[in-house]
Amino acid sequence: MSSFKNVFESYDWNTLEQEIYAVEAEQVRAVLDKEKVALEDFKVLIAPAAKPFIEEMAQRSNALTKKRFGTTIQMYIPLYLSNECQNICTYCGFSMDNKIKRKTLTDVEILKEVEHIKSLGYDHVLLVTGEANRSVGIDYLKNAIALIRPYFSNISIEVQPLEQEEYEVLRQAGLYAVLVYQETYHKATYKMHHPKGKKSNFDYRLETPDRLGRAGIHKIGIGALFGLEDWRVDSFFTALHLKYLQKTYWKTKYAISFPRLRPHEGELQPKVEMTDADLVQLICAYRILDEDVELSMSTRESEVFRNHIIPLGITSISAESKTNPGGYTVEKESLEQFEICDERSTAEITEMIHSQGYDVIWKDWDRNFTIGF
Ligand code: SF4
Repeated sequence: MSSFKNVFESYDWNTLEQEIYAVEAEQVRAVLDKEKVALEDFKVLIAPAAKPFIEEMAQRSNALTKKRFGTTIQMYIPLYLSNECQNICTYCGFSMDNKIKRKTLTDVEILKEVEHIKSLGYDHVLLVTGEANRSVGIDYLKNAIALIRPYFSNISIEVQPLEQEEYEVLRQAGLYAVLVYQETYHKATYKMHHPKGKKSNFDYRLETPDRLGRAGIHKIGIGALFGLEDWRVDSFFTALHLKYLQKTYWKTKYAISFPRLRPHEGELQPKVEMTDADLVQLICAYRILDEDVELSMSTRESEVFRNHIIPLGITSISAESKTNPGGYTVEKESLEQFEICDERSTAEITEMIHSQGYDVIWKDWDRNFTIGF
């Protein structure tokens, strides 16, 4: 059975790192002169040597994004259902070793949160839970999706990795997309940050997008958590993963996110800093590599950064997010997974998007398409 693991193991982290950091300006020029860039070229575009070319990369990214997506930005909002978790992740407020009050929303509470989210105008929702098999396993998720399905055209999840058959069950219940980030593709660093729980199994997580592809999930979101390791090498592996998935599960749509470490209970300082300019360079590099991939930006980033990034390749953003279960109405003070940075209201964000000549998209899918796809 096909798996990304084989592809992944044919690459060496240190060799890639050396290659990326050895890139010279002439190589960047040569890549930018090409009409189509390949995965090998992506290494060049994310290299330090490409920094002086950011303006040119941004213009190309802008043009490619407009060609494929028009001047539109898709809106979505996270709905945290639970902060229960059986994993230790050194960077997360929900980590099992944090002595916090745990909370999992009941049906009544979920619907209360949904009512609030709907009043803001959202039609695309991202359900988020910690990884706790007993309290937020497949039965809980299936029930939650069925419960909210009448209210949303498009339902995504960011939860514990599941088996292929379980994803098939959720797809039948109305699930559209699954986001599963590898956090880091550096095996030893991954082990260090995930010492306990099911998530400590690097390979199982690495092969999750394969199980999603085989289960026929419509869209798969991947990415790395920037700050754990060198962002350039992690991004190359993310691009490698993307290209493998596109080739193997060609009916599926793909999205990439760019989470940077944010403050949380327990505070982990980033090992490798990723500056705003680095993140712009990376977003433009992904777009130049791939015209079709959706690029998503959360409220982890600052107001100023989010304002500037709109025309540079991003296709979807969240607003007014709460990262704690019940955070909108039910239990506003429960512990959040991480602090959000852009705290503007949905209305303020849509106004900002409009002011840049972009249309806001609330819905680009219908729930009736999801079943039996
Ligand atoms: S990142 Fe996910 S798995 Fe890890 S502690 Fe947080 S909620 Fe649990």
